[in-house]
Amino acid sequence: MCCRKYTRENGAVRKKYRMDHLTELKKYDKQYYMRNIEKRKEYKSGKIICFCGISVGRSSLARHQKNNRHISRVAKMQLSDVKTFLKEAKKNLKESQRKLKKDIDHVSRLELIFCDAIL
Ligand SMILES: [Zn+2]
Repeated sequence: MCCRKYTRENGAVRKKYRMDHLTELKKYDKQYYMRNIEKRKEYKSGKIICFCGISVGRSSLARHQKNNRHISRVAKMQLSDVKTFLKEAKKNLKESQRKLKKDIDHVSRLELIFCDAIL
């Protein structure tokens, strides 16, 4: 059975489980958050390279893309530079989507095993 279909059809069971085990799950979520707090900080403070060529913090990319420095650099860029950057970005995006899909499949499989164990 498809994971999405399983999730859709067993929504009530999953919801009931969540309600029955609310305190345990909240405790687990909090522990997970605390365990990964450093990882989150590291991710959020990470630097990425904007397509204008300037290195910016992940959290300030949107602000950077509105400022004059970025706008003037982009205006001076050649169309071919933009196309090359976009091609590379598209390739990277596809790769990360593939990785994400793999992770989601893994989590769904674990979820199925978990749900089967309960029932
Ligand atoms: Zn930029």
